[in-house]
Amino acid sequence: MISPEDYARKRAALVAALRASGTAGSLALEKTTSNLFRQRVQEQRHRLDVRHFNHVIRVDQNERYAEVEGMTTYEELVRETLSFQLMPCVVPQLKSITIGGALAGVGIESSSFKYGFVHETILEIEILLPDGTVVAATKDNEHKDLFFGFANSYGTLGYALKVKVALIPVGKFVRLRHERYSDLETYFHALGRVCRDRQVEFVDGTMFDDRELYITTGEWVDQAEWLSDYTYQHIYYRSIRQKTVDYLTAHDYLWRWDTDWFWCSKHFFVQHPLVRWLWGRKRLCSTVYWQLRSKFNRSPTAQRVARALAGRQEAVIQDVEIPLEHAAEFARFFNREIGITPVWICPVASYDPSASYPLYPMTPGTLYVNFGFWDAVKTDHEDGYFNKKVEAKVKELHGKKSLYSEAFYSREEFWQLYNEPAYRALKTRYDQTAKLKDLYEKCVLKQ
Ligand SMILES: Cc1cc2nc3c(=O)[nH]c(=O)nc-3n(C[C@H](O)[C@H](O)[C@H](O)COP(=O)(O)OP(=O)(O)OC[C@H]3O[C@@H](n4cnc5c(N)ncnc54)[C@H](O)[C@@H]3O)c2cc1C
Repeated sequence: MISPEDYARKRAALVAALRASGTAGSLALEKTTSNLFRQRVQEQRHRLDVRHFNHVIRVDQNERYAEVEGMTTYEELVRETLSFQLMPCVVPQLKSITIGGALAGVGIESSSFKYGFVHETILEIEILLPDGTVVAATKDNEHKDLFFGFANSYGTLGYALKVKVALIPVGKFVRLRHERYSDLETYFHALGRVCRDRQVEFVDGTMFDDRELYITTGEWVDQAEWLSDYTYQHIYYRSIRQKTVDYLTAHDYLWRWDTDWFWCSKHFFVQHPLVRWLWGRKRLCSTVYWQLRSKFNRSPTAQRVARALAGRQEAVIQDVEIPLEHAAEFARFFNREIGITPVWICPVASYDPSASYPLYPMTPGTLYVNFGFWDAVKTDHEDGYFNKKVEAKVKELHGKKSLYSEAFYSREEFWQLYNEPAYRALKTRYDQTAKLKDLYEKCVLKQ
């Protein structure tokens, strides 16, 4: 933890550095971690060094909130809050996701059927604007437009330097139940019922194919009959098929997906017991896989070798939200046309139906199903063929697509989907000189 005074000193230094840089050129963040699956084109940018804005400032046990610097990872935030028997209402599964990234992007986890997306659990944001001004935005002050508009702005309106986030109490252990279904309609019907009943704390799911689907629920318990460990030799996603009941500590539950990056660790061959043993427990985590992937992206030779071995492929790495009533149709389309497996399923509904986040609006009172798929498919089509199919189906079914990965929309279609009037109003007020790229330029054109 750091003191509020230390934070204020760092903030003043950052503001001075930004102002000294003048108005020329565009801005970018200099961060230690990232979970972004699109690489920006190289161009001259002033890089704002925010790597040291990565501490918790305070945890208020009575009022149940934490004040935290914007680049703090959830791993660090959870470490601090668990010592007070508290956790953020929604903890994205990958340890290296930061609170600022999850807020400016779209963060979700198995508590989202109750609390909504990460941005709905935020109480206040201190934002560095491109002109060097710092404003505090809340739900009801003069910057409430920025508070609600920050979600899905991906660093195109300003940067979150400090965030006040709501916390909830944790129990000692989580009892998990994995319930199998073999029919899409029955599965999504049951998912809706479990979310409506609200008898459990956590709900997510895994789809292996149309006929093998699981709903996993989690509830706090004081006693555990046994405790499983998925941080080394055993693999969490495989346990879903093997066990109907399981127990984890609160800490291990929150990071159950991180050890194997859901199932994506297979690309590094570490799901083989011998490789796993040689690899070592410490390096089984999303941060290491991410570093290796970044190295791969920077090496044309490695990419040539991969292409020679696997043939031409298209990465289809996306998270999309589909209204529950259309979820079975989307699943059927996805399994038939894309065929990536497994797929992560996570229900989400807005926490406060009266609050509207204009750049990522959700219909109040509607339960959505997040489908997360992160792999590549063999192709002999033009670039983006499969991703465009997904985009078209999501639009047809009145869904939404997160923008942390590649997008192929035309400018016109993009702005129909992501609320151009609201975005332009925010951009005019908070980034008049367009020092930051706009959302389309950044997320689709990768500028
Ligand atoms: C394989 C995979 C699985 C994923 N699974 C999940 C999941 O299960 N749950 C979930 O919630 N999310 C998931 N995500 C998405 C992830 O939460 C988003 O990509 C998120 O934006 C990453 O945050 P980050 O801290 O790593 O930020 P970065 O990747 O560094 O940045 C993301 C974007 O946010 C901007 N940004 C970063 N920090 C700030 C800030 N302080 N203020 C303003 N803008 C900022 C950056 O400019 C950038 O445009 C997944 C992503 C991948 C690749």
